[in-house]
Amino acid sequence: MDSLKNNRQKKIYEIVSIIKLSSLLFCGIIFFKYYLVKKTVNYTNDTLLSLALIGVSICLLTLIYILWSIFSNKYFILRHIRIIKSIENIAFIGIFSYLIVLSGANSSQYKFLFLFIIIASTIQSGMKHGIIIAFICSIIILVIDLISIPNVEVNQYFENDLILAGVFMLTAWPLGYYVKIENEYRKKLSNLANIDGLTEIYNHRFFQDSLKKQIQTSQKLKLPLSLILLDIDYFKHYNDLYGHQNGDKVLKKIGTILKNCARNKDIVARYGGEEFTIILPNAEEQEAIYIAEKIRLNIEQSEFEGEENQPNGKITVSLGVSTFPDKAKNDIELIKYADDALYRAKFFNKNRVETYYSILEELKGDIEKEHIDLITSIKTLISVINAKDKYTYAHIERVVMYSKLLGDKLNLSPEDKKILKYGAYMHDIGKINISREVLNKKMPLTNEEWETLKQHPVNGVEIIKSVPSLKNVIPLILHHHERYNGKGYPLGLKGEDIPYLARILTVVDSFDAMTSNRPYNTRKTYDEAILELKKCSNTQFDPFIAEAFIKVIAENEGNLDNSILFRKN
Ligand code: GH3
Ligand code: MG
Ligand code: MG
Repeated sequence: MDSLKNNRQKKIYEIVSIIKLSSLLFCGIIFFKYYLVKKTVNYTNDTLLSLALIGVSICLLTLIYILWSIFSNKYFILRHIRIIKSIENIAFIGIFSYLIVLSGANSSQYKFLFLFIIIASTIQSGMKHGIIIAFICSIIILVIDLISIPNVEVNQYFENDLILAGVFMLTAWPLGYYVKIENEYRKKLSNLANIDGLTEIYNHRFFQDSLKKQIQTSQKLKLPLSLILLDIDYFKHYNDLYGHQNGDKVLKKIGTILKNCARNKDIVARYGGEEFTIILPNAEEQEAIYIAEKIRLNIEQSEFEGEENQPNGKITVSLGVSTFPDKAKNDIELIKYADDALYRAKFFNKNRVETYYSILEELKGDIEKEHIDLITSIKTLISVINAKDKYTYAHIERVVMYSKLLGDKLNLSPEDKKILKYGAYMHDIGKINISREVLNKKMPLTNEEWETLKQHPVNGVEIIKSVPSLKNVIPLILHHHERYNGKGYPLGLKGEDIPYLARILTVVDSFDAMTSNRPYNTRKTYDEAILELKKCSNTQFDPFIAEAFIKVIAENEGNLDNSILFRKN
């Protein structure tokens, strides 16, 4: 759209340049006819010289204007600066006035010259400008008439020029009106091209264009910018039940709610089918979360026809938030991270707002400079594992959060809490070598497959062992499948020989595996999982840690279904 607009402006500029150029050619001819030729050259005796001079002067004026055109074409922005346009117009009016005075003032035949600048400025700047220029030109010719023949009762020239002034105005007005209508239509058309027909909010293309521009502005002004991505929950279900037409009504209503909840400066757009997005200029993450939560609540509380038959009894939405430049460094990252956050919101039972965060970003602050690249690799590895094993995605995050709660309960030192957090995040990193089939297999694993799976703690250590600052994380990765009775793997360590933090990780990791849907077993309820923890105390789990974790679960049970920590996939 922008290139179309620029193209149009370039074309207009070309037309205007041609008009101005032609007027300068006329000026050159007049100038030499009335000045140089009459005063300095003997016209009758030296016709050749005079013609040559005319040619040179025309060439000179033309050259000057062509140079100016090239210069301002190169620096296209110059043409939009009002003062430069005004100076150009004043220069033309000045030249024309001078030539009119030179060629006989009131009796000059060249008053029509003003038409050039009236037409050019009307086309270029619209009706208002055109009329102002026409008015100025009219005043100039009438004043010339009055000054040239003062004190006469009937000033013939003045009367004639009143008609000419009328012609000036009549040229500017309809032409300007036409330009105005054309501009309005153009605006309407470009609006139509930017608006989504169904929801009447901006469409995807406009969103993409605006995001780029807004990021540039934020960068320039050093201001934050946030992005919200929104997806309707179970919308396929609604469509299947009530048909697309009713689905469309929901989309329309949600579009309206978004517009009402967003601030005036926010850009609300339909991202795709049933996904929406909002660009929030100058909004920190907290403000974006506040607006996202307002939207979530508003939609949850709004009434939609037939919503009672939705899986969660109402129409709800999930939202992801990310912020530039804090979290994302450019527009692509901003969308990706908001999408990641949205994905998490979906994963943790929908109808919620999630922001993008990355434990690995946090880790960057703790790690030696020369190993920063490894963080990117770990990030990639984890996303590859997530993509391969659909059960690990929220599993890793839940294990991190359980570990945090249990770490608090066990009064770990801040340093140990940090190690536990990183260990929880990376504990499955060695699964990178295990095939998708094995990871998602529903049947019991063959001996060979089982041996491969048991390698993942050792493989995980291989990946991070070259980084000195991750040295303390190694025992957690290596021993998180050891059992308290010595029957675990890879080393079969027993009791307190197993590092303390690894024993903690074993409890939370196993609890989450029990309470999630895994390929090989169905999920246990929290009560069933607590019973299992008790049953396996002393055999699989450190009894002290298992007991502390049971307390953590009991204390948080009230939040089980509200907190993202305890929602289950
Ligand atoms: P989830 O809660 O995980 O988002 O589940 P979902 O059913 O909403 O799944 P998804 O986000 O993939 O929804 C896609 C559905 O959105 C498919 C289609 O029925 C519906 N949809 C997409 N575009 C339109 C549209 O323009 N009009 C209507 N009525 N429905 C649309
Ligand atoms: Mg969707
Ligand atoms: Mg959806």
